[in-house]
Amino acid sequence: AKENGRNCFQFFTTAMHEHAKARSQLEGALHRALANQELRVVYQPIVGDNRLGCEALLRWHNDALGEVSPVDFIPISEELGLIMAMGEWVLYQACAQARAWLNKTQQPFFVSVNVSSTQFKRQNVVALVEKVLRDTSLPAECLTLEITETVLADNSDDIERQLEQLRVMGVGLAIDDFGTGYSSLGYLKRFPLSKLKIDRAFIKDLPDDEEDKTLISAIISMASKLNLIVIAEGVETPAQLALLQQLGCDYTQGYLHSKPSSAAEFEAFLLKYQTR
Ligand code: C2E
Ligand code: CA
Ligand code: CA
Ligand code: CA
Repeated sequence: AKENGRNCFQFFTTAMHEHAKARSQLEGALHRALANQELRVVYQPIVGDNRLGCEALLRWHNDALGEVSPVDFIPISEELGLIMAMGEWVLYQACAQARAWLNKTQQPFFVSVNVSSTQFKRQNVVALVEKVLRDTSLPAECLTLEITETVLADNSDDIERQLEQLRVMGVGLAIDDFGTGYSSLGYLKRFPLSKLKIDRAFIKDLPDDEEDKTLISAIISMASKLNLIVIAEGVETPAQLALLQQLGCDYTQGYLHSKPSSAAEFEAFLLKYQTR
């Protein structure tokens, strides 16, 4: 039994060591990812009745590690403080791209960019957005920032002030993943939000799940009374789309319309959408 215990301990430390090694390999690679041009931005349509937008999403491909999911590398980038540079880069890419699409279509259009709570805490997001909008000559109305409840839960006057300035500029503010996390309805009152994104967790069992149907219907009617534009995330089936439209949801996003794709592929979607 003693022998066994030792083996077990040895196995455990080896596993921990392997884990630490993998993690430090990831961190090292992540430090170089931006400079090595390993990051790219993909775009996913956000489809409304006669309006189209898109969400910009980060992708990372590393030769040794392969394709790493943002679910894994974003939290580490936040810890390492790399998210500031990455966030600036995504914002710039997305705004420049949106400007180019605006020129092509002459139609109302918006791009939605995720901003992490670390950015709001450690960076002047207002100054950054002002600079990027100026450099890309994208109208503020064509940009939406997606923030999670973590940003709002911070309860900081500074963040509240930044959000207010962004709204005054005309930038849209969406609360992301609504209904998960530590949802407080108070956020909807306190912060100058313009959009609400219902998390996929509430969409995935539609149209069969009666409880989800009730929740979604309540969220949509509440949001519309608060003048918030509602976007449903993770829409995968025509039946989900039909139900959401029936409930008065303004926009839908999900694999049903398209997976996140390259700028060129999204552009094809955009041009097709326009002429439908
Ligand atoms: P998110 O902001 O909630 O983004 C939506 C996620 O849902 C994306 O995952 C998207 O690919 C996925 N999705 C879209 N439609 C469907 C669908 O119909 N079914 C399913 N199952 N999934 C769908 P992705 O791209 O892997 O991103 C994961 C998360 O990583 C994002 O969640 C966001 O929190 C974070 N992230 C991605 N890019 C950025 C970024 O540029 N900055 C920051 N701060 N976070 C980012
Ligand atoms: Ca998002
Ligand atoms: Ca989301
Ligand atoms: Ca989510």
